[in-house]
Amino acid sequence: MALVSDRFIEVEDTKGAETSSVKIRYTEIIGDSQGPALFVLAGLHGDELTGVEVIKQLKSYFSKNITAGKVTLVPVANPIAFAARQRQTIHDNKDLNRCFPGDPEGTITDKIAYEITEKIVKKSDYGIDMHTGPNGRILLPHTRMVLDETKKVKELSKLFGTMISWIREPVEGALAIESKAFKVPTIAVEIGEGNKLDNFFVKSGIFGVTNIAKYLGLLDGRACVLKDQYIMNERNNIIANSTGIFYPKTDIGKIVNKGDLLAEIYDTQNNVTEKILADRAGLVLAMQTSSVAVSGTTIISTLSLGACGINTVSLVRKKCMIYHTRNPKDLLLNMWA
Ligand SMILES: [Zn+2]
Repeated sequence: MALVSDRFIEVEDTKGAETSSVKIRYTEIIGDSQGPALFVLAGLHGDELTGVEVIKQLKSYFSKNITAGKVTLVPVANPIAFAARQRQTIHDNKDLNRCFPGDPEGTITDKIAYEITEKIVKKSDYGIDMHTGPNGRILLPHTRMVLDETKKVKELSKLFGTMISWIREPVEGALAIESKAFKVPTIAVEIGEGNKLDNFFVKSGIFGVTNIAKYLGLLDGRACVLKDQYIMNERNNIIANSTGIFYPKTDIGKIVNKGDLLAEIYDTQNNVTEKILADRAGLVLAMQTSSVAVSGTTIISTLSLGACGINTVSLVRKKCMIYHTRNPKDLLLNMWA
């Protein structure tokens, strides 16, 4: 049986004569035999809930089923931001995912980053950092990587099971970027929408984390991967030209061709309907969820099919089941049938 312990990281904040503290709860699950250490973290941004729920559901499953190594679960990395239902820490208005590796002499957010680095990241061999889209924008589940990504992060990305990985510039202070300095390969993933829970996205997070745990040998069973994970880097934001009721005519994950109808906006002031057409071929990455479109704002984002590569990393550590499907929903159905 795995050894399960709930612990807290306590971070003190001193402002003048006043001292307050924040407690970050985490769970360590240690298997019977030797193996790598994996951390799974959510809630760096206080309004991103999918990963919090993924970890809640995984805690009981992992407590019974982890056979080797160690899993550290951190459901809410920034409890101050979580309680305020917002991205940043309200005390100093800093974004925790721009403060790594942290500073023990800094403000409260720097201190939280420092403690997480020392007590969680540096004691792990691999990491998963779960995020969602912002409030009001739904994202196709995907992983984030940088150009010339390390082989181990590419492995984690492919194992997480999303159809796409989106290339970004290295962001200073982001956990998945800064953990490279400690040789702890960490994958950042985006699943769902801010301030909301949706079962499909929760399931895709559970799938991704358990798949990585199987591959690393922490759980019994074979990892399942899609034959191809697409690496995309050219994002096109589609902007509304009018303000009115928003009628989406496509969905995240759909492939669209130039000229396809993406959405209609009924302009209530002028009593006309704007048709939004795709100006190039692409994959629908993100859509606003509000039913009101506002002129000048992004309503839909696509990733260009022209700038698309394939994650060619070979998963050599353990045999994997390969699914020859291009639809991530098929993969999930296979896994959770
Ligand atoms: Zn985030």
